[in-house]
Amino acid sequence: MTSRQRRRILCALAATALVLGGCSAPRVPGSYRIDDTMSAKGKASRVEIIVLHYTASSKIGALATLTNRDVSAHYVVSDDSPPVVYRLVGEDLAAWHAGESNWYGRSYINPRSIGIEIVHPGWNASNAPGPDFPPDQIDVVIALTRDVARRHGVSPENIVGHSDVALGRKQDPGPAFPWRQLAQAGVGRWFDERAAPAYETRFEQEGVPKPKWFQDQLRRVGYAVPDTGQLDAGTRQALTAFQLHYRPSLVTGLPDAQTAARLLATPTTGSAIP
Ligand SMILES: [Zn+2]
Repeated sequence: MTSRQRRRILCALAATALVLGGCSAPRVPGSYRIDDTMSAKGKASRVEIIVLHYTASSKIGALATLTNRDVSAHYVVSDDSPPVVYRLVGEDLAAWHAGESNWYGRSYINPRSIGIEIVHPGWNASNAPGPDFPPDQIDVVIALTRDVARRHGVSPENIVGHSDVALGRKQDPGPAFPWRQLAQAGVGRWFDERAAPAYETRFEQEGVPKPKWFQDQLRRVGYAVPDTGQLDAGTRQALTAFQLHYRPSLVTGLPDAQTAARLLATPTTGSAIP
Protein backbone atom coordinates (compact mmCIF):
# COMPACT_ATOMS: atom_id res chain seq x y z
CA MET A 1 0.00 0.00 0.00
CA THR A 2 1.44 3.29 -1.04
CA SER A 3 1.27 6.32 1.18
CA ARG A 4 -1.20 7.82 -1.27
CA GLN A 5 -3.55 4.82 -0.95
CA ARG A 6 -3.29 5.00 2.88
CA ARG A 7 -4.27 8.65 2.82
CA ARG A 8 -7.35 7.90 0.69
CA ILE A 9 -8.55 5.19 3.10
CA LEU A 10 -8.08 7.46 6.10
CA CYS A 11 -10.06 10.23 4.42
CA ALA A 12 -12.93 7.86 3.59
CA LEU A 13 -13.02 6.62 7.19
CA ALA A 14 -13.07 10.19 8.48
CA ALA A 15 -15.96 11.10 6.16
CA THR A 16 -17.97 8.03 7.30
CA ALA A 17 -17.41 8.97 10.94
CA LEU A 18 -18.66 12.51 10.29
CA VAL A 19 -21.83 11.25 8.62
CA LEU A 20 -22.53 8.62 11.28
CA GLY A 21 -21.90 11.17 14.00
CA GLY A 22 -24.40 13.55 12.48
CA CYS A 23 -21.71 16.07 11.74
CA SER A 24 -21.98 18.47 8.83
CA ALA A 25 -20.35 21.66 7.66
CA PRO A 26 -19.78 24.07 10.54
CA ARG A 27 -22.89 26.25 11.16
CA VAL A 28 -22.52 29.86 10.04
CA PRO A 29 -23.80 32.21 12.79
CA GLY A 30 -27.13 33.73 11.75
CA SER A 31 -27.90 31.12 9.13
CA TYR A 32 -31.26 29.38 9.44
CA ARG A 33 -33.77 27.31 7.55
CA ILE A 34 -37.57 27.74 7.46
CA ASP A 35 -39.62 24.76 8.59
CA ASP A 36 -42.94 24.82 6.69
CA THR A 37 -44.34 21.62 8.15
CA MET A 38 -46.73 23.52 10.50
CA SER A 39 -49.44 25.98 9.39
CA ALA A 40 -51.74 28.35 11.31
CA LYS A 41 -55.53 28.19 11.02
CA GLY A 42 -56.11 31.90 11.74
CA LYS A 43 -55.18 33.79 8.59
CA ALA A 44 -56.72 35.95 5.88
CA SER A 45 -55.76 37.52 2.59
CA ARG A 46 -54.60 41.13 2.70
CA VAL A 47 -56.67 41.79 -0.45
CA GLU A 48 -60.05 43.36 0.40
CA ILE A 49 -60.87 45.43 -2.69
CA ILE A 50 -60.76 44.89 -6.47
CA VAL A 51 -60.48 48.06 -8.57
CA LEU A 52 -61.42 48.05 -12.25
CA HIS A 53 -59.86 50.62 -14.58
CA TYR A 54 -59.74 51.45 -18.24
CA THR A 55 -56.41 52.27 -19.85
CA ALA A 56 -57.55 55.24 -21.99
CA SER A 57 -54.92 54.09 -24.47
CA SER A 58 -54.03 51.25 -26.84
CA LYS A 59 -52.73 47.95 -25.54
CA ILE A 60 -49.17 48.75 -26.65
CA GLY A 61 -49.22 52.16 -24.98
CA ALA A 62 -50.79 50.81 -21.79
CA LEU A 63 -48.31 47.95 -21.45
CA ALA A 64 -45.40 50.33 -22.00
CA THR A 65 -46.66 52.68 -19.28
CA LEU A 66 -47.66 49.95 -16.83
CA THR A 67 -44.36 48.10 -17.06
CA ASN A 68 -41.86 50.97 -17.20
CA ARG A 69 -43.18 53.75 -14.99
CA ASP A 70 -44.15 54.22 -11.35
CA VAL A 71 -47.67 53.05 -12.14
CA SER A 72 -48.78 49.45 -12.53
CA ALA A 73 -51.64 46.98 -12.24
CA HIS A 74 -51.87 43.31 -11.42
CA TYR A 75 -53.68 42.47 -14.64
CA VAL A 76 -54.30 43.99 -18.06
CA VAL A 77 -57.19 42.59 -20.12
CA SER A 78 -56.50 43.36 -23.77
CA ASP A 79 -59.00 44.21 -26.51
CA ASP A 80 -57.66 41.44 -28.73
CA SER A 81 -60.00 38.72 -29.92
CA PRO A 82 -59.72 36.55 -27.94
CA PRO A 83 -58.54 38.87 -25.15
CA VAL A 84 -55.14 38.30 -23.55
CA VAL A 85 -54.78 38.65 -19.76
CA TYR A 86 -51.33 39.99 -18.89
CA ARG A 87 -50.19 39.57 -15.27
CA LEU A 88 -47.74 42.37 -14.52
CA VAL A 89 -47.67 42.06 -10.70
CA GLY A 90 -48.29 38.95 -8.59
CA GLU A 91 -51.36 39.03 -6.33
CA ASP A 92 -49.15 38.75 -3.23
CA LEU A 93 -47.59 42.13 -4.02
CA ALA A 94 -49.07 45.63 -4.17
CA ALA A 95 -49.44 47.35 -7.55
CA TRP A 96 -49.53 51.13 -7.93
CA HIS A 97 -52.91 51.53 -9.56
CA ALA A 98 -55.32 53.44 -7.32
CA GLY A 99 -53.23 56.35 -6.01
CA GLU A 100 -54.93 58.68 -3.53
CA SER A 101 -58.07 56.71 -2.76
CA ASN A 102 -60.73 55.97 -0.15
CA TRP A 103 -63.43 53.33 0.20
CA TYR A 104 -65.53 52.69 3.33
CA GLY A 105 -63.11 54.86 5.29
CA ARG A 106 -60.04 52.93 4.16
CA SER A 107 -57.59 55.32 2.54
CA TYR A 108 -54.70 54.63 0.16
CA ILE A 109 -56.02 51.23 -0.84
CA ASN A 110 -53.10 50.00 -3.02
CA PRO A 111 -51.68 47.67 -0.32
CA ARG A 112 -55.10 46.02 0.19
CA SER A 113 -56.38 45.82 -3.38
CA ILE A 114 -55.98 44.15 -6.77
CA GLY A 115 -55.99 46.40 -9.85
CA ILE A 116 -57.35 45.23 -13.20
CA GLU A 117 -56.78 47.46 -16.23
CA ILE A 118 -59.10 47.00 -19.21
CA VAL A 119 -57.84 48.19 -22.58
CA HIS A 120 -60.38 50.79 -23.73
CA PRO A 121 -59.97 54.25 -25.26
CA GLY A 122 -61.93 55.95 -22.47
CA TRP A 123 -64.52 58.69 -22.73
CA ASN A 124 -64.86 62.43 -22.39
CA ALA A 125 -67.54 65.04 -22.89
CA SER A 126 -67.20 64.86 -26.68
CA ASN A 127 -67.38 61.05 -27.07
CA ALA A 128 -69.53 60.16 -24.01
CA PRO A 129 -70.17 57.45 -22.98
CA GLY A 130 -67.28 56.07 -25.08
CA PRO A 131 -67.35 52.96 -27.24
CA ASP A 132 -68.84 49.71 -25.96
CA PHE A 133 -66.47 47.22 -24.38
CA PRO A 134 -66.19 44.14 -26.64
CA PRO A 135 -68.43 41.32 -25.29
CA ASP A 136 -65.60 38.77 -25.15
CA GLN A 137 -63.44 41.28 -23.23
CA ILE A 138 -66.24 41.72 -20.65
CA ASP A 139 -66.64 37.93 -20.39
CA VAL A 140 -62.95 37.69 -19.50
CA VAL A 141 -63.17 40.61 -17.02
CA ILE A 142 -66.10 38.85 -15.32
CA ALA A 143 -64.26 35.51 -15.10
CA LEU A 144 -61.00 37.07 -13.90
CA THR A 145 -62.68 39.33 -11.32
CA ARG A 146 -64.74 36.40 -10.03
CA ASP A 147 -61.59 34.28 -9.66
CA VAL A 148 -59.68 37.02 -7.82
CA ALA A 149 -62.68 37.68 -5.55
CA ARG A 150 -62.96 33.99 -4.69
CA ARG A 151 -59.24 33.61 -4.02
CA HIS A 152 -59.23 36.50 -1.55
CA GLY A 153 -62.81 36.45 -0.23
CA VAL A 154 -63.64 39.93 -1.63
CA SER A 155 -67.29 40.83 -1.02
CA PRO A 156 -69.46 42.36 -3.78
CA GLU A 157 -69.49 45.93 -2.44
CA ASN A 158 -65.70 45.96 -2.57
CA ILE A 159 -65.54 45.33 -6.33
CA VAL A 160 -65.38 48.93 -7.52
CA GLY A 161 -64.34 51.29 -10.27
CA HIS A 162 -61.40 53.67 -9.97
CA SER A 163 -64.00 56.47 -10.12
CA ASP A 164 -65.68 55.10 -6.97
CA VAL A 165 -62.52 55.36 -4.86
CA ALA A 166 -60.81 58.46 -6.33
CA LEU A 167 -63.62 61.03 -6.29
CA GLY A 168 -63.21 64.02 -8.59
CA ARG A 169 -59.90 62.66 -9.84
CA LYS A 170 -60.74 59.56 -11.87
CA GLN A 171 -63.68 58.58 -14.08
CA ASP A 172 -62.70 55.09 -15.21
CA PRO A 173 -63.96 52.53 -16.13
CA GLY A 174 -66.56 55.06 -17.36
CA PRO A 175 -70.28 55.05 -18.20
CA ALA A 176 -69.91 52.42 -20.97
CA PHE A 177 -68.76 49.83 -18.43
CA PRO A 178 -71.57 47.27 -17.88
CA TRP A 179 -71.71 47.02 -14.06
CA ARG A 180 -75.26 45.62 -14.27
CA GLN A 181 -74.08 42.76 -16.49
CA LEU A 182 -71.31 41.98 -14.01
CA ALA A 183 -73.82 41.88 -11.14
CA GLN A 184 -76.08 39.58 -13.19
CA ALA A 185 -73.08 37.27 -13.48
CA GLY A 186 -72.65 37.41 -9.68
CA VAL A 187 -69.73 39.87 -9.72
CA GLY A 188 -69.96 43.15 -7.76
CA ARG A 189 -72.84 45.04 -6.14
CA TRP A 190 -76.07 46.25 -7.67
CA PHE A 191 -79.14 48.04 -6.27
CA ASP A 192 -82.47 46.32 -5.70
CA GLU A 193 -84.31 46.95 -8.97
CA ARG A 194 -87.62 45.71 -7.53
CA ALA A 195 -87.56 48.20 -4.64
CA ALA A 196 -86.20 51.24 -6.49
CA PRO A 197 -89.28 52.24 -8.58
CA ALA A 198 -91.50 52.64 -5.52
CA TYR A 199 -88.82 54.71 -3.78
CA GLU A 200 -88.54 56.87 -6.89
CA THR A 201 -92.29 57.53 -6.96
CA ARG A 202 -92.17 58.46 -3.29
CA PHE A 203 -89.29 60.91 -3.79
CA GLU A 204 -91.08 62.43 -6.79
CA GLN A 205 -94.16 63.01 -4.67
CA GLU A 206 -92.48 64.03 -1.42
CA GLY A 207 -89.54 65.88 -2.92
CA VAL A 208 -85.89 65.09 -3.43
CA PRO A 209 -84.06 64.70 -0.09
CA LYS A 210 -81.69 67.34 1.29
CA PRO A 211 -77.90 67.21 0.64
CA LYS A 212 -77.35 65.87 4.17
CA TRP A 213 -79.48 62.80 3.33
CA PHE A 214 -77.43 62.17 0.15
CA GLN A 215 -74.19 62.55 2.10
CA ASP A 216 -75.30 60.03 4.72
CA GLN A 217 -76.48 57.54 2.08
CA LEU A 218 -73.37 57.90 -0.08
CA ARG A 219 -71.19 57.32 2.99
CA ARG A 220 -73.28 54.28 3.95
CA VAL A 221 -72.51 52.65 0.60
CA GLY A 222 -68.78 53.40 0.73
CA TYR A 223 -68.10 56.84 -0.75
CA ALA A 224 -65.74 59.35 0.87
CA VAL A 225 -68.26 62.18 0.91
CA PRO A 226 -68.05 65.38 3.03
CA ASP A 227 -70.35 65.83 6.03
CA THR A 228 -71.24 69.47 5.45
CA GLY A 229 -74.96 69.33 4.75
CA GLN A 230 -74.19 71.35 1.61
CA LEU A 231 -74.25 70.39 -2.05
CA ASP A 232 -70.55 71.21 -2.27
CA ALA A 233 -67.93 70.06 -4.78
CA GLY A 234 -67.09 66.88 -2.81
CA THR A 235 -70.76 65.87 -2.63
CA ARG A 236 -71.27 66.47 -6.36
CA GLN A 237 -68.16 64.38 -7.06
CA ALA A 238 -69.55 61.50 -4.98
CA LEU A 239 -72.92 61.80 -6.76
CA THR A 240 -71.11 61.68 -10.11
CA ALA A 241 -69.23 58.53 -9.04
CA PHE A 242 -72.43 56.85 -7.83
CA GLN A 243 -74.24 57.70 -11.07
CA LEU A 244 -71.31 56.47 -13.22
CA HIS A 245 -71.65 53.11 -11.50
CA TYR A 246 -75.40 52.77 -10.85
CA ARG A 247 -77.01 55.10 -13.41
CA PRO A 248 -74.55 55.50 -16.27
CA SER A 249 -77.26 56.66 -18.71
CA LEU A 250 -77.51 60.04 -16.96
CA VAL A 251 -74.48 61.38 -15.08
CA THR A 252 -75.17 64.88 -13.76
CA GLY A 253 -73.50 65.01 -10.36
CA LEU A 254 -76.77 66.46 -9.03
CA PRO A 255 -79.41 65.04 -6.68
CA ASP A 256 -82.66 63.78 -8.21
CA ALA A 257 -85.45 61.35 -7.32
CA GLN A 258 -84.06 58.41 -9.32
CA THR A 259 -80.56 58.78 -7.86
CA ALA A 260 -82.07 58.95 -4.36
CA ALA A 261 -84.14 55.83 -5.07
CA ARG A 262 -81.19 53.81 -6.37
CA LEU A 263 -79.05 54.94 -3.43
CA LEU A 264 -81.69 53.84 -0.94
CA ALA A 265 -82.03 50.51 -2.78
CA THR A 266 -78.25 49.85 -2.69
CA PRO A 267 -77.30 47.36 0.02
CA THR A 268 -74.51 48.35 2.43
CA THR A 269 -72.92 44.93 1.95
CA GLY A 270 -73.57 42.19 -0.58
CA SER A 271 -75.56 42.68 -3.75
CA ALA A 272 -79.16 42.77 -4.89
CA ILE A 273 -78.79 40.70 -8.06
CA PRO A 274 -81.07 42.18 -10.76
ZN1 LIG B 1 -57.73 54.00 -13.24
